[in-house]
Amino acid sequence: MGITVSAYAATSATAPLTETTITRREVGPHDVAFDIHFSGICHSDIHTVKGEWGRTQYPIVPGHEIAGVVTEVGAEVTKYKVGDRVGVGCFVDSCRECDNCRAGIEQYCTGSGMVGTYNAVGRDGERTQGGYSGAIVVDENYVLRIPDALPLDAAAPLLCAGITTYSPLRHWNAGPGSRVAVIGLGGLGHLAVKLAKAMGAEVTVLSQSLKKMEDGLRLGADAYYATSDPDTFAELKGTFDLILNTVSANIDLAAILSLLRVDGTVVELGMPEHPMSVPAGALIGGRRSISGSLIGGIAETQEMLDFCAEHGVRPEIEIIEPTYINEAYERVVASDVRYRFVIDTAGLRN
Ligand code: NAP
Ligand code: ZN
Ligand code: ZN
Repeated sequence: MGITVSAYAATSATAPLTETTITRREVGPHDVAFDIHFSGICHSDIHTVKGEWGRTQYPIVPGHEIAGVVTEVGAEVTKYKVGDRVGVGCFVDSCRECDNCRAGIEQYCTGSGMVGTYNAVGRDGERTQGGYSGAIVVDENYVLRIPDALPLDAAAPLLCAGITTYSPLRHWNAGPGSRVAVIGLGGLGHLAVKLAKAMGAEVTVLSQSLKKMEDGLRLGADAYYATSDPDTFAELKGTFDLILNTVSANIDLAAILSLLRVDGTVVELGMPEHPMSVPAGALIGGRRSISGSLIGGIAETQEMLDFCAEHGVRPEIEIIEPTYINEAYERVVASDVRYRFVIDTAGLRN
């Protein structure tokens, strides 16, 4: 029968999220059940709730930055026990057999595809529902261990925003001697700054304005520029090896590409609603690349959590009650988040 838990759900693209109840499946032999203590608000939750990616099934309980404490494990579970501090990110299953799953990049599963933490259908045939709720049941292979040094509230945003920025920084070898720029100082962006800095890179923030400059420098950026100022583009022309674009809206990619050195790469992390165009000349003149990156695999997510514990990387969070979710959404859309909202789900637990 499973367990019934409280949750916050949206019933349509325009309705506010309201409290409801959902059922989690019974704990199977390989499952871990845990009480959710904190759940981050990612801009992807908002894109999905608003139907901006065009494939949302309602009602939907968002949330894929989930941290909590294990309450029950299935008979065959070996990795976790009751009382362990654990997390779940953007996916809860994948085919486990394709080349990508075997290589630990389950997010690019070409078999059944990765099963999203919400707005997907699991192996059990049931729709998945996310972390804005009191508890969840997930196969042990898709659960992460939260190191003791990381508080649960700070760990939550690492499970999407953290891994989404860590993975491309590693893939494109950010480190001493590399010049990295981060566009957009929001949830992903502020963690990108901290992570790139912890890896030893030289980091520049490219924000819409200089409003958050003090914060950006405090977070570890070496330089901070406003993209609204045309002088920025003249001054920084041909500067960066790697640019992470975390912006949730369309921007002028040709202008951004001009900031790359020869052979530099812009990595698209933001997923705006509408396509963006790139003039061929912006790529040709400098053998520049444009790429994209989707979250990270389970092993790399664990590596990122351990890295953050070791290097003292923590997101800056604002803890909110579930009743504040709708207002928090408005503030995220208005770029008024400093720098991740995290829902304290105590009131949703049984
Ligand atoms: P967020 O907290 O809202 O941050 C986005 C930042 O982009 C804002 O803080 C703002 O920074 C900048 N921005 C917003 N609107 C802009 C506009 N019209 N023009 C220029 N800059 C603008 O969002 P997030 O949670 O970090 O997510 C960012 C994007 O990444 C979303 O599209 C999300 O869906 C996507 N995402 C992708 C992955 C992946 O695997 N690739 C994973 C998670 C999220 P400034 O105020 O500094 O300009
Ligand atoms: Zn996310
Ligand atoms: Zn697969």
